[in-house]
Amino acid sequence: MSESIVFYCKDCEKLVETDRIGKKYVYKCKKCGTKNVAFGTDKSIKNFFRIKEEKKEEEAPKKDAPKEETPKEEAPKPEEK
Ligand SMILES: [Zn+2]
Repeated sequence: MSESIVFYCKDCEKLVETDRIGKKYVYKCKKCGTKNVAFGTDKSIKNFFRIKEEKKEEEAPKKDAPKEETPKEEAPKPEEK
């Protein structure tokens, strides 16, 4: 009751709804139909699979790869005539 159980489909790569198969702890993804589903507490699943919260704000431009630097074709060297 304290912690909610969530299901994570490794194929869909996100949290999904599932159908439980039989009496076993096997769950089938409702979206893609595979049994490639992991389940656990919301916290553990998100932590384990590093699921990003539904925020796209973190997709900040990468500072490691500046695009507007070192032009190759532009700025030709002045050649002496
Ligand atoms: Zn799926």
